[in-house]
Amino acid sequence: MEKTSAMEEKPTILIVDDIKENIHILLSLLDDYDLLVALNGAKALKLLEKNEIDLILLDIVMPGMDGYEVCRIIKSNPDTKDIPILFITAKTDEDSIERAYDAGGVDYVTKPFKPKELISRIKTHLNMRSMLKSLEFFATRDFMTGIYNRRKFFELGNELFEKSDKLFAIMMDIDKFKLINDNYGHPFGDIVIKSVTKTISQNISEDSVFGRLGGEEFAILCKADSMEEVKQRIENIRKAIENLEEKYQNTIVKVTISNGIALKHASNDTMDKLLKRADEALYEAKGTGRNRVCFRN
Ligand code: GH3
Ligand code: MG
Ligand code: MG
Repeated sequence: MEKTSAMEEKPTILIVDDIKENIHILLSLLDDYDLLVALNGAKALKLLEKNEIDLILLDIVMPGMDGYEVCRIIKSNPDTKDIPILFITAKTDEDSIERAYDAGGVDYVTKPFKPKELISRIKTHLNMRSMLKSLEFFATRDFMTGIYNRRKFFELGNELFEKSDKLFAIMMDIDKFKLINDNYGHPFGDIVIKSVTKTISQNISEDSVFGRLGGEEFAILCKADSMEEVKQRIENIRKAIENLEEKYQNTIVKVTISNGIALKHASNDTMDKLLKRADEALYEAKGTGRNRVCFRN
């Protein structure tokens, strides 16, 4: 199962300060971490676009954007809002401290700082961040397959629905799956579900939203230029699954899926309506012999 970055490698800390001496002190103190440095807010924001950063040490008084503003920008971006920001500053007055927390900071350390205290605080926030990441992972994934669970599918799906015009929904369901469980047992059924899920994951574009809606039923939301293109992609997935060979003792077990596609348009103007149309197409695929792709315009 996928691990969060903080678990598997050295955490990355971004140091943002306009005074080089301050940076040098921090660089020598924090040599257990991967470190990135920015001498101003704009540079910090640029580095955040391209790097996975686990924690930020942020100065307040800097030319150009001050630390509060940098913090607010980071906290208003969905991609960076969860990165803990620890202010590290010469300002010791209460109003500055309050402003730092109001801007979204998680902690406040005054210069000159006590090195061991700073390191302990950094460790505490990195641990919290790592725990939150694992919690998020388990709250949003289907435990067995690692793909999005129903709740996360609808959350991300609604976001994609709102911002995309050429959007397609695909409902997929494993054919006669009950027979697989009945013939080879539930644990083998689980292996088949994982294998089907893996095959689908390997054949969809990065920006698709793919989730397990329940039992042996899955859904995809994806952007594409035409129905023809989507039909082709799903047909490829259908074939790839038809070609899978799962071994149960000395028997090769085959599996197929039925697929229903629907296109977002004026009368499918909500996610629910779009999925309902895709479900109708899936129902047609089931009713006309299974192991096929049907669609609704
Ligand atoms: P159809 O082609 O009409 O879809 O037939 P089906 O047998 O696939 O459909 P049905 O809904 O009758 O049965 C689905 C079965 O999937 C029943 C349920 O026990 C099984 N199932 C649901 N979740 C899991 C799971 O996580 N693991 C295993 N092994 N089986 C599951
Ligand atoms: Mg400064
Ligand atoms: Mg089924």
